[in-house]
Formats: sequence, structure tokens, C-alpha cells
Amino acid sequence: MDYKHFSHPHNLIIHRVYELGQQVNCSGCNSPCDNTTTAVHACHQCNFFLHDHCANAGRYVKHPSHQPHPLILLPHPTYAGGTFICNACGHPGKAFSYCCTLCEFDLHVGCAFLPVSVTHQAHQHELGLFYGVPVVPRRGSNSDLEYCNLCRKVLEERNWEYCCRQKCDFKVHSACATTEVVPGMYQDDSPDCGAAEGNVAVGDGNGGGGNVVEVELTEEDIIRLYRLQMLAQSMASLSTAG
Ligand SMILES: [Zn+2]
Ligand SMILES: [Zn+2]
Ligand SMILES: [Zn+2]
Ligand SMILES: [Zn+2]
Ligand SMILES: [Zn+2]
Ligand SMILES: [Zn+2]
Repeated sequence: MDYKHFSHPHNLIIHRVYELGQQVNCSGCNSPCDNTTTAVHACHQCNFFLHDHCANAGRYVKHPSHQPHPLILLPHPTYAGGTFICNACGHPGKAFSYCCTLCEFDLHVGCAFLPVSVTHQAHQHELGLFYGVPVVPRRGSNSDLEYCNLCRKVLEERNWEYCCRQKCDFKVHSACATTEVVPGMYQDDSPDCGAAEGNVAVGDGNGGGGNVVEVELTEEDIIRLYRLQMLAQSMASLSTAG
């Protein structure tokens, strides 16, 4: 059983259960995909592998963290240097990104589909996802900086965090809290299947609260997206040629 994926010039074979003797990385998210119990999509000729959720990531998402524009899935960053900085975790990426080129807004595939709630052994309550770190000026402290309760590093205002839903002062980087991915979120176009079931936490600083994400594409947007996708496609075939 093989099929063509837009990010690769050759057909991919789907392995329902896959075990490799070597460590291989997913070309979508650059994290390991050997010894997984879920399906792996492979082109053996090129040593090209994709996680099931990376292979099935939709070509665009209407993501609640970036309401003005849909994000489109690019197989390679289009920035000079070939790297993007993920707006969610703040880490660089070189593989797939959900991108708004108009705003230079980028997300790792995994970060785009982070669960809206997680639990972590370091805290007794459920943690909710916030798109940004609300900065609360603190009395008697020389700095307004917030620190991650897990790695102790600064929580950057522009990146995402998980916070205790019970209002404890427990905040962590999204990437410190979980590596879980919820495939298929925000990808359903049917209106009665509202994005994220209305429980997406929107950071205070983002003037949000709206849960239903409606993005209307104008003709101009569609043409822009289309051009972008053509560009991405030709880059993909260039970089894998030869
Ligand atoms: Zn992957
Ligand atoms: Zn190939
Ligand atoms: Zn990320
Ligand atoms: Zn945008
Ligand atoms: Zn952290
Ligand atoms: Zn708590």
C-alpha cells in the first residue's frame, strides 16, 4: 500500500507496525520515529520517514492561536537560512511548519496539535494551554519575568505555556509539559464540529476568549496560499532531487 505525499517526490509505503534496527527521524518534525507502535510512512530509497500524525497533518489549519489567517503546512521553511522559530515553544525547526507568511508566524506540527489540557506528575491539578504568558507585575520583585516550574528557565511572553487551571502559580513551557500530539484538531471544516470543543484556553494577553474559529478566505488569500504552496512544492522537489 503506497501513496504520494506532497512533501516527497516518491511514493510512501505505510507500515502499520514498524521496527528499525537504527534510529531514524521523522522528516516532518525531526523527532525519532523508530520503535513506534503507530504507523510509519516511509520511502526507503531516500531514508525518508514520517510519523502517522505528521503525514496526515492537514494542508492548512484554522488555528485558534492565530485567528486572523489560516496556517498552511510547508514542507520546508521558506526563510533564509532554512530555519523557522516556532511561536509556541520558541525552538527552531527545519522540517514541516504551519506557517502564516504574512505575519511570519510558525508552528511545529507537534506544537500545532498540543492537547488543550494535560496533567504532569510535578503538579496535582490539570494544566491548561495558554497562547502566551500573561505578564503580571509583581510587587517587591525586581523583575516581572516568569519562570518555568519545571526547567526554571524564563517563560518568554510570546511563547506558549501550560498553567494550573486552579490558579496556583504553576506555569511551565509547553514543551516541558508534554510531547503529546492530538492529531486532527482544528482540521475539521464542518461548522458543527467547532474547533477544540470550546475549551481552548486563550491567554489573557491575547484579548481572546472566543472559542469558535471562523476564518473566511477571500479570493486573494486563496491565490496567495496557492502561490505559497506551489513555491513550497517546488522547493521540496529541488531539495530532494538527486
Ligand atoms: Zn513527525
Ligand atoms: Zn524518496
Ligand atoms: Zn514548537
Ligand atoms: Zn497571519
Ligand atoms: Zn521549561
Ligand atoms: Zn494547581
